[in-house]
Amino acid sequence: MAVPERTPERMARIREVLSRRQPDLTVLLENVHKPHNLSAILRTCDAVGVLRAHAVNPTGGVPTFNETSGGSHKWVELQVYPDIQSAIAHLKGQGFQVLAAHLSEGALDFREVDYTKPTAVLLGAEKWGVSEEAAALSDLHIKIPMMGMVQSLNVSVAAAVILFEAQRQRIRAGFYDVPRLEKEALEALFQDWLKR
Ligand code: SAM
Repeated sequence: MAVPERTPERMARIREVLSRRQPDLTVLLENVHKPHNLSAILRTCDAVGVLRAHAVNPTGGVPTFNETSGGSHKWVELQVYPDIQSAIAHLKGQGFQVLAAHLSEGALDFREVDYTKPTAVLLGAEKWGVSEEAAALSDLHIKIPMMGMVQSLNVSVAAAVILFEAQRQRIRAGFYDVPRLEKEALEALFQDWLKR
């Protein structure tokens, strides 16, 4: 594959985007494997500034994307785990609060939560939702209030609604004004992205 041209415009754009990446905001997808949903979520992640997304895929296969991603899977790394326990343990070990988007009894309105803390939003499978185990391992449950006839949103829509609230709070807190990646990490990613 040909290496993309290093024009000043492209280099500036890559630097700008990396300087807005939020290494402490992410999603954890539990068995969300329909390519159009996965692709739509990664596209939202890119728009919001998520650096790396996380997914549990018990089959261990590489998730597939389709044109819905708009090419965003090139810019948002996806870390895959064999099970939900190891995924949550990894994120908690890195200091993330894990918020399950889950319509449980005690779930808080998603707007009542502080997304300026290191945050992973856990989203469940299209059919089954967040598993009992994942719900129990999460720090908090959040919900998008539903006022209609249908019980839930499509998973990629739910992801977008929650992530853009996180973006709103982080813009207000000045999180997009200065790079949040360490200088060395940003530089390494810059060199890597230039080749993509
Ligand atoms: N029947 C499933 C259930 O009982 O949870 C519905 C799953 S829904 C289509 C897929 C995922 O989107 C859910 O697991 C949840 O993470 C997210 N989701 C959808 N609507 C939501 C809402 N109103 N509030 C919070 N999360 C929601």
